[in-house]
Amino acid sequence: QGISPFLEPGPRTKANSLAILQLSRDNFLPVHLQHATGEHDGYAEGVVVNTRFGSFPHSTMIGVPWGSQIRASKVDTGSRGRKRKRLPGDDAGRDENGNEVEADVAELEIETESAEPTTDTPSGPKQAIAASSGFVHVLPPTPEIWTTSLPHRTQVVYTPDYSYILHRIRARPGAVIIEAGAGSGSFSHASARAVYNGYPKEGERKGKVISFEYHEERYKKMKQELSQHGLEGIVHLTHRDVYKGGFLINDGESPEAEAVFLDLPAPWDALPALSRRRPEGAEGADESGKPWVSPLNSKKNAYICTFSPCIEQVTKTVSAMRRLGWVDIDMVEIANRKLHTARDRVGLNMPQDRGVNNSARDVEEAISKLAEIEEKFRQHARPSRSAANTSSKNGDDGKATSNGKGASREEETFTSSRPWADGRLIVRGEPEIKTHTSYLVFAILPREWSEEDEAAALAKYPLGQ
Ligand code: SAM
Repeated sequence: QGISPFLEPGPRTKANSLAILQLSRDNFLPVHLQHATGEHDGYAEGVVVNTRFGSFPHSTMIGVPWGSQIRASKVDTGSRGRKRKRLPGDDAGRDENGNEVEADVAELEIETESAEPTTDTPSGPKQAIAASSGFVHVLPPTPEIWTTSLPHRTQVVYTPDYSYILHRIRARPGAVIIEAGAGSGSFSHASARAVYNGYPKEGERKGKVISFEYHEERYKKMKQELSQHGLEGIVHLTHRDVYKGGFLINDGESPEAEAVFLDLPAPWDALPALSRRRPEGAEGADESGKPWVSPLNSKKNAYICTFSPCIEQVTKTVSAMRRLGWVDIDMVEIANRKLHTARDRVGLNMPQDRGVNNSARDVEEAISKLAEIEEKFRQHARPSRSAANTSSKNGDDGKATSNGKGASREEETFTSSRPWADGRLIVRGEPEIKTHTSYLVFAILPREWSEEDEAAALAKYPLGQ
């Protein structure tokens, strides 16, 4: 399988690897690219993704640079007219001019990946079909796109939440994170990328996500996905009820984790198993002398986040955390609001200090205004560029400009060659936040501190000096 396309996609798409087709701005379709094999051999097109906006044979998407625009095949793949279940990205597509088009759902025909590919292969001579002249872009998979396009088996953690969570629990290359439950794998993909540290040097730890899921079907599906996505070496998934079984791996070994994320209905029931010492009343708390193995790294503070939709769950979690010695407990709710930012190019509004009248009443006036603006910019650009050259010759960072306002050299070039890009900046926000996702509870369990640690610290930093 090789290195995961989520972690190191390389410059081009590959066969037997995941790619994301972007059908329109917010519509993504995950596709496992593959050459025609076995029963498909001998067919001209091999495996094909069919959309209302055209047919896209996998063969045209393998080995191309990421980000490539793929034009629909001019060949009838023979599968138009078939119906199948709805998939992410079905709602819209692009016509040949790149405009977003709402699909007629009743007529929708999208075949993904290898889903029943035999019917997606042409059985007769190639025929040109005029209607299929749309295009898609082929993108490398990222956790963000995967989150929006993954097959939902549960509620998932979305990007605004997990980006904040990963930052707060200090997920970084080489870190070991415990996660439960794995659910649909949205958080698992994001955390796998956060901890990935390639080929660690000798003595360095490999970043890992130690994940648990007790629902058997979800566990199996996720295992399969991890393998297809080349993430098995990073995400170590175990089928277990963590309330009962805790977080040790390989028959009682500690994963030595330094961060924990719990997306469970009752996080307080999982917290005792995360203690550094055997907690009072914990299963097997005994006189047997059996040593307690903590799943946490004893030499590092442990950072935790629990994710719960109800405030009652938060209260119970916080209480359990206090009893178990967690400190710095706080709660955050991420209220994400999308902002749409654009330049107002229609009215050709220009900054007044450029000396251009701002209002354009009709198309002709707009065109003549454009010419006027271009001319103004040409006049502005000449001295500016020479100022930038002078400043670079002088060995500074090129930030000085003719107007002394500190625009960078790139901005200088950009505005002088595309004056209309300088229209009024407009930011529109969603009027209100639509959804409550969950409350995030954060806390820290301080590291172990032994007599030896104290002696070593005193030797390094003697008191009174
Ligand atoms: N964080 C996941 C994601 O981003 O895709 C979604 C997690 S989902 C909301 C919660 C998962 O926890 C479910 O799949 C459920 O089966 C699992 N779960 C619930 N109780 C569990 C337990 N005691 N041990 C392990 N997994 C559990």
